[in-house]
Amino acid sequence: MDIEDLAARIEAGERRALARAITLVESGRADHREQATALLDRLRGGGREGLRIGLSGTPGVGKSTFIEAFGMMLTAQGLKVAVLAVDPSSARSGGSILGDKTRMERLSRDRNAFIRPSPAQAQLGGVARRTREAIGLCEAAGFDVILIETVGVGQSETMVADMSDLFLLLLAPAGGDELQGVKRGIMESADIILVNKADGELKSAATRTCADYAGALRLLRKRPQDPEGFPKALTVSALEEAGLAKAWQEMLALVGWRREAGQFDARRSEQARHWFEAEVREGLLARLRQEPVRGAMAALAQRVEQGDLSPARAAEEILQTYLRGFAGKGS
Ligand code: GDP
Repeated sequence: MDIEDLAARIEAGERRALARAITLVESGRADHREQATALLDRLRGGGREGLRIGLSGTPGVGKSTFIEAFGMMLTAQGLKVAVLAVDPSSARSGGSILGDKTRMERLSRDRNAFIRPSPAQAQLGGVARRTREAIGLCEAAGFDVILIETVGVGQSETMVADMSDLFLLLLAPAGGDELQGVKRGIMESADIILVNKADGELKSAATRTCADYAGALRLLRKRPQDPEGFPKALTVSALEEAGLAKAWQEMLALVGWRREAGQFDARRSEQARHWFEAEVREGLLARLRQEPVRGAMAALAQRVEQGDLSPARAAEEILQTYLRGFAGKGS
C-alpha cells in the first residue's frame, strides 16, 4: 500500500480514501497496524482541526433522526460533517448497527457528509483506539464537525465523552414527572441535554422533562470549564427539525467560551495524555499475551494454582524479570 498516495488523497478530501484508511486502522493485523501508524504520523500536524461532538442516547430516542437533520443543517451551511459510531455492544447483542447508512439516507447521499458505521469489534480498548484514529483521519480530510454517536450502555458513553470537545445527551420526553434513570456520571459529563420529540402530543411532556433536567443540572456543581448557564437542557424535534439551530448556537457559544478561557486546548491536551496512557496499558497487555512471556505466565500461574507461590509474588516476578527484557521488542 502506498501510504503517501493514500495520505494525499485523504488530504484532498476523497471520501473513498478516508473510508479505506479507517478500514486500515480497524484492522487487527500487525502489518496493517504499522501502516496505520505510518499514515497517522504522515497526516499529523496538518493543522486541520474539527469540532468533535459526542452524542449519546438509548435506542429509539431519535439519534439517527437527529444526526440526519442536524447534519443536513450543517452541510447546508457549507460545513463538512463526519459521523462515526461507537457501539461495543453491537457485536455481541447483534442489535442494530449504529451509523448504518440506511438510518440516515439523505445525509449519506450528501457530498459534504461522511458516515461510518460501528465496526464489528467487541473489545472496548480496540474500539477506543479505532475511533480516536478515525477522528484524526476525518480531521485530516477536512471535516469541520465530527459527530461521534454511541448508545447509552456500559462504558462506551464515558469513552466517547473522553474523546469529544462537546458531549450531548439525547433524551426522550418522560411519561411521569420523575427523571429517567440517567446515571449521575453521564449527567455530569453532558454539556447539553437535548430532550427530543418536542412535537405534537409529546410537546408538553418534552417541555416538562426539559425543565426537570434543567433543575437537576442546576444542582450539579458548576464546572470551572463552563460559563454561566452550562450545562443546559433544551428541547428539540429532530422530526420537525425544530430547535436545531438554537442547539447549534448554544454549542458554538460554549466552544467559543472554552477557547477563550483556554479550556478547549487544555481538554484536548488532557485527552491526548489519556490516550497515550491507554495505549501503554493496551500495549503492555498485548505483550503479556505473546511468547515467551505468555509461556512464563502459564508456568507461574500453575505454581500459583498449586500454592507454591503467592499471586502477588508471581506477578512481581513477571513484571521484574520479563517486562524489562521484552519492552524494546515490537508487537
Ligand atoms: P435511534 O435508535 O436513537 O437512532 O432513534 P431513531 O432516530 O431511529 O428514531 C426512533 C423513532 O423515533 C423513529 O420512529 C423516529 O421516527 C422517531 N423520532 C425520532 N425523532 C423524533 C422526533 O423529533 N419526534 C417524533 N415525534 N418522533 C421522532
